[in-house]
Amino acid sequence: MPQAMAQAALLLREARHATVFTGAGISVESGIPPFRGPGGLWSQIDPAFMEIDRFRAEPRESWLKIKEIFYDFFGKAQPNAAHFGIAAMEKAGRVRAVITQNIDGLHQEAGGREVIEFHGNSRWLVCLGCGRREAALAERLASLPPYCSACGGLLKPDFIFFGEGIPEKALQRSYQEASQADLFLVIGSSGEVQPACQVPPLAKARGARLIEINLHESNFTPIADVFLQGSATALVSSLAREIGLNSVL
Ligand code: NAD
Repeated sequence: MPQAMAQAALLLREARHATVFTGAGISVESGIPPFRGPGGLWSQIDPAFMEIDRFRAEPRESWLKIKEIFYDFFGKAQPNAAHFGIAAMEKAGRVRAVITQNIDGLHQEAGGREVIEFHGNSRWLVCLGCGRREAALAERLASLPPYCSACGGLLKPDFIFFGEGIPEKALQRSYQEASQADLFLVIGSSGEVQPACQVPPLAKARGARLIEINLHESNFTPIADVFLQGSATALVSSLAREIGLNSVL
């Protein structure tokens, strides 16, 4: 076994409070492309339709693009071995919580319970009029834009758009994890998106060790105690095996 993996397994076995922090990279092997970099979504599509002011001004045009990308295409994605491996670590008491920047709901679908969604979740809609939330069922998206059945307000996916703030509860819980954790496992995140990218460095400053899994070096690599370079599915599976979770893999 390579030394870095042995070191990571030791840190995870010895941790009293391990928190996982994930980005778009963990869902790439489920078929969801990242937003940035070569082949990323923003190299093909202008992200302006996800600006909150544009959405309010032209809801139908924005919704047509949103539905095509986030519901018709991403909606079919299934959790992969990395999502399942983390859920198994949580079930075994090795991981306390997952902070995810992703909006795809795949951690919960794999069995994750303590999932803090930093940017919201595409599987829910929220009314811009009364704040009521409802499931993003296919029939609600048959006619666009969808309107709230309670107040008639415009419904928006319950993930954050450009120009919106981070949900308060997710922000607080993330900072709490960063203060309490003695180990942070960062998977598939470039560390370029604010303010999410401040969470792992905050944990590190409070004394947590940091393990990073990524195909490439990221903004987190300079502060990582252990850098495991490779794909999320292969490396999370190996790590889970190394800490004795053979049955789930
Ligand atoms: P990012 O797109 O900025 O970076 C992705 C990172 O994942 C890169 O560092 C890349 O090297 C790494 N990566 C790619 N494939 C990988 C693999 N198979 N295994 C391991 N690592 C891999 O991602 P980010 O830091 O999460 O920021 C993007 C923002 O866009 C997030 O805020 C997120 O909300 C959003 N987003 C979400 C989804 C989703 O819900 N699945 C998808 C795309 C973007």
